[in-house]
Amino acid sequence: MDFKLNDIQVSVQQTFREFVNKRVIPKAAEMDEAKEFPHELFNEVAKTGFFGMRYPESAGGSGMDIISYMLAVIELSRGSLSLAAVCTMQSLMATYFIYRYADEEIKNKYFLPALKGKKIGGICMTEPNAGSDLMSIKTLVKVKADHYELSGQKIWITSAPVADFFTVLARTDNHEKLSIFFVPTSLEGVHVGKSIEKLGLRASPTSEVSFDKVILPKNYLLGEIGAGTNGLREILAEIRVMTAAMSVGVARAAFETALDYAKTREQFGRPIGKFQAIKLKMADMAVKLETARNYVMHAAWLCNEDLPRFRESAMAKLYASEMANEICDAASRVMASYGYAMDFPMQRYLRDARFTLIGGGTSEILKINIAKDLGL
Ligand SMILES: Cc1cc2nc3c(=O)[nH]c(=O)nc-3n(C[C@H](O)[C@H](O)[C@H](O)COP(=O)(O)OP(=O)(O)OC[C@H]3O[C@@H](n4cnc5c(N)ncnc54)[C@H](O)[C@@H]3O)c2cc1C
Repeated sequence: MDFKLNDIQVSVQQTFREFVNKRVIPKAAEMDEAKEFPHELFNEVAKTGFFGMRYPESAGGSGMDIISYMLAVIELSRGSLSLAAVCTMQSLMATYFIYRYADEEIKNKYFLPALKGKKIGGICMTEPNAGSDLMSIKTLVKVKADHYELSGQKIWITSAPVADFFTVLARTDNHEKLSIFFVPTSLEGVHVGKSIEKLGLRASPTSEVSFDKVILPKNYLLGEIGAGTNGLREILAEIRVMTAAMSVGVARAAFETALDYAKTREQFGRPIGKFQAIKLKMADMAVKLETARNYVMHAAWLCNEDLPRFRESAMAKLYASEMANEICDAASRVMASYGYAMDFPMQRYLRDARFTLIGGGTSEILKINIAKDLGL
């Protein structure tokens, strides 16, 4: 068993750690307050090659392993969970099915520019009445002789207000299983609503999207009709490990902030970190953080080796997201009133971490999946 990161993984971690310290942390609060898509930092992330890390060199990416990708996700999330959300959307969910199934025309016009941050993508799965229960989605594609016609409504779509293209999960009128379509936002009938006001992840805009009889050429079907359900399964484990990595990143930010504070804040004539109550709290947090990180690394390794990972990815995401919320809460208590002040970052970590309980499957759904895998 080898727990040591290899030279490339160490170098990726170091590169993103420095980038986040220098470029992201100083801007994170300002981005959160602006509540807008962070174009400037998004373009800087594009230059690091992050958007192409998960794709092979033959497809225009850099062919990094999944462990390296998760190390980068942890670092970005430590700096700003909003930035990590729009960047992971671009590097995996919005582009994966295009990489896998689109023809050269779509790849040249959208996929390759997306890897450089020149086109922005989103994935449209959730609907007003279909969240956890994705198989009940109603967005309908009518199959015509020489084209498709797409109609329906989506909600909570990350990056939608600035997106150039979407990967859309829909139901065709001739098949019970779901299918995946490529949809440029410039097409007539694509309407993007205004950004939804959110508790956290405020620099990662999300909005409603509606499709009103949008005409799609035949090559905009990604994969076969009915292949959407299995297609989603191809990347579900990785999406979950990625959300777990995001959880570790935001938890680490909260933990490190509280640790610094515990060492410097003095009450009753000594640093508060010298009081046993704070020491025990910090030690508990350190154990949980390390456990979640190990879970993420192990699940990332299973994904990388293409080994069975359904249960482990669900466990990693469940544990890491619950841990992130516990740590943000405990870290905020260590800082007391300064954990409550808008001028300090702790409140942002606390607000942002709530997202990790939702994206990639809620805790209830993950537990149901784990129990199913246990044969229950
Ligand atoms: C910031 C943000 C960004 C997002 N970005 C995207 C995006 O880019 N694209 C996209 O398609 N979607 C996106 N989503 C949507 C997200 O994937 C869904 O919110 C998520 O799948 C949960 O769906 P829901 O909110 O409708 O909750 P629901 O499914 O309605 O769940 C409500 C509650 O019921 C529980 N529940 C549901 N079913 C069961 C069951 N069978 N047993 C026990 N409990 C159950 C849930 O655990 C939860 O507690 C985003 C959401 C957020 C908050």
